[in-house]
Amino acid sequence: MSDHDQDPEDTLLAPRLRGLGTTIFAEMSALAVATQSVNLGQGFPDTDGPDVVREAAIEAIRAGRNQYPPGIGVPELRHAVTEHQRRFYGLEYDPDTEVLITTGATEAITASLLALVDSGDEVIALEPYYDSYVAAISMAGGVRVPITLRPPDFRLDVDALRRAVTPRTRLLLINSPHNPTGTVLDDTELAAIAELAVERDLVVVTDEVYEHLTYDDAVHRPLATYPGMRDRTVTISSGGKTFSFTGWKIGWVCSTPSLVNAVMTAKQFLSYVSGAPFQPAIAKGLPLGDEFYADLRQSLQKKRDRLCEGLRQVGLEVFVPQGTYFVTTDIRSIGAEDGVRFCLSLPERCGVVAVPHQVFYDHVEMGRPLVRWAFCKRDDVLDEAIDRLRAGLRT
Ligand code: PMP
Ligand code: GLN
Repeated sequence: MSDHDQDPEDTLLAPRLRGLGTTIFAEMSALAVATQSVNLGQGFPDTDGPDVVREAAIEAIRAGRNQYPPGIGVPELRHAVTEHQRRFYGLEYDPDTEVLITTGATEAITASLLALVDSGDEVIALEPYYDSYVAAISMAGGVRVPITLRPPDFRLDVDALRRAVTPRTRLLLINSPHNPTGTVLDDTELAAIAELAVERDLVVVTDEVYEHLTYDDAVHRPLATYPGMRDRTVTISSGGKTFSFTGWKIGWVCSTPSLVNAVMTAKQFLSYVSGAPFQPAIAKGLPLGDEFYADLRQSLQKKRDRLCEGLRQVGLEVFVPQGTYFVTTDIRSIGAEDGVRFCLSLPERCGVVAVPHQVFYDHVEMGRPLVRWAFCKRDDVLDEAIDRLRAGLRT
């Protein structure tokens, strides 16, 4: 979605897709490879997830689970998802009618918006937005209405949210834990969203892919647990972050039968079905013991602290995240101003790749000085990045 790489070929694109460009993640990862930089741009771990999950995928391939699975998803994964929602949040879903397996959360988001938003409908979303939201809203013909999370705390402005609702508002698109700011919406914020959704009779789509990546005393609470919300919320998550297999692209939707059916209507013509052998593997991961989930959280919290400390040492103003695997900094503290320019020059200058916030904003000026760094990397990789920044930013 970066504007700075506008392609003249864009004129061939249908107007509703113009300006989407190449995703910033692909762009920055390609730059990392080309310049042999340490890639703290795109959020993907550099170590694999649990062996038992990986072995289950290999076993599934060997066992011949290689043809089209059911469109709604294989039964053992749908059951594992419902069990997960019950175990962690006390939410009850029927695995046969209230769960849909998708090709990552990305497809779940796009299918939900295509299914629920019509031309001209307004979609309220938290800005900075995860980049696929902009694309998905555009593909659906919707109009995005940003509610901006502002530094230093990146909290939700509940009054602004309330004011943003109009008769044209079709749905609220919420993301918590929030990429890129790392905000985990707290009980007061979630209760206010829920109250508003009920009062104005709105559907809420919530992207909870970082549900297990929360730190210190931040707690993730699904919006669907709030009064009046279960039946108006489309809850989305995926196995990518929880099990550190981001390339497998197994996601899911939990909602009422009619909302799941609506999303399914779009999903079946996007991908038809999703990764046959990876579904039973993720089904093996979800029931892993509490220790697995605690270890994941602790290990990432240590990495967060390691990277935050290093970034502080090189002079950046750091906004410590409560969740996700990203940390945001303000580059004005080291005399820079424009995050896009900073990130484009960083590989050559320091051999490090980061992502400018600006590309996640409609109010670009608000994102201009902010840069996002991923800490889901080996400790030696994080240390190397800091060493390089220390050396390169001096010059
Ligand atoms: N939502 C958010 C907020 C994300 O950061 C990501 C990135 N992985 C996704 C959705 C996409 O998830 P998936 O890889 O499961 O499609
Ligand atoms: N969610 C990842 C990020 O924010 C990237 C996933 C993608 O490239 N689509 O970095």
